[in-house]
Amino acid sequence: MDSGSLSAPCKRLEGKVAIITGGASGIGAAAVQLFHDNGAKVVIADVQDKLGQALANKLASEAVCYIHCDVSNENAIIDLVDATVTKYGKLDIMYNNAGIMDRNFGSILDTPKSDLERLLMINTVGGFLGAKHAAKVMVPQQKGCILFTASACTEIGGLCSPAYGVSKYGILGLVKNLAAELGQYGIRVNCVSPYGLVTGMSGNKGVDPAIIEAKLSEMGNLRGQILKAEGIANAALYLASDDASYVSGQNLVVDGGFSSVNPTIMKAFNLIK
Ligand code: NAD
Repeated sequence: MDSGSLSAPCKRLEGKVAIITGGASGIGAAAVQLFHDNGAKVVIADVQDKLGQALANKLASEAVCYIHCDVSNENAIIDLVDATVTKYGKLDIMYNNAGIMDRNFGSILDTPKSDLERLLMINTVGGFLGAKHAAKVMVPQQKGCILFTASACTEIGGLCSPAYGVSKYGILGLVKNLAAELGQYGIRVNCVSPYGLVTGMSGNKGVDPAIIEAKLSEMGNLRGQILKAEGIANAALYLASDDASYVSGQNLVVDGGFSSVNPTIMKAFNLIK
């Protein structure tokens, strides 16, 4: 849906200012488009400058800009938040979405400590720093929304490597504890947790993305649908909008029920295929 086809009352983020880290690709890029379509001013923060700038150019609006920011670098996060407030006057939504996967879906027996540290620095420390510096602006405002992208691996074991799992469970720890601390200032803190989907991080390994999507769908619980980045962006839009004005401390798992069910026994009784 393009921005022109949404009438004003449908714009769920009208007047809001958002930062989306990892906004150059995948889930982040889908969220940039959707938040923009819904009336937000959006700062795309990423380390992929060409992609990030191209997305800003495509949207061709004063309400969208790209800023280079490595989320694991505290000074870069401080500069990002400062630049956003200078340009747009405030910060309503901080969507800490930037993340990486491990180089291999490996056993703990073969995981170098450096791999764990790399995942923690970007996936967990990056989110921590984003939340910290967004909160410095939001506390005096007495309102705000801090979001993260975690993963469905926070709900059930076996979906990811131990190192990636640690980095994403850390996000849940942040969500719960920041919801407690920042709730007193009217700031909501939540995360979205996707099942597997094809994006920049999973889609460029030389395999046809459609084949990966078909396989993920077959392994999933909900039939007849392929999870796309837009599906996660829609969940983030809900949490970012006033529709979720009393929702805080939640992990919104978008996995078609995968982590909630165990159909082994139903299969044994031939109740399902
Ligand atoms: P993606 O690779 O398309 O997007 C991730 C973005 O983060 C990229 O643009 C990348 O450049 C950026 N990034 C990486 N390191 C960064 C850094 N240090 N500073 C700033 N930006 C950085 O992948 P995606 O799937 O859209 O990932 C978005 C989030 O979703 C990640 O946190 C990821 O862990 C999570 N996630 C993805 C899946 C999946 O199956 N794709 C499943 C569950 C959770």
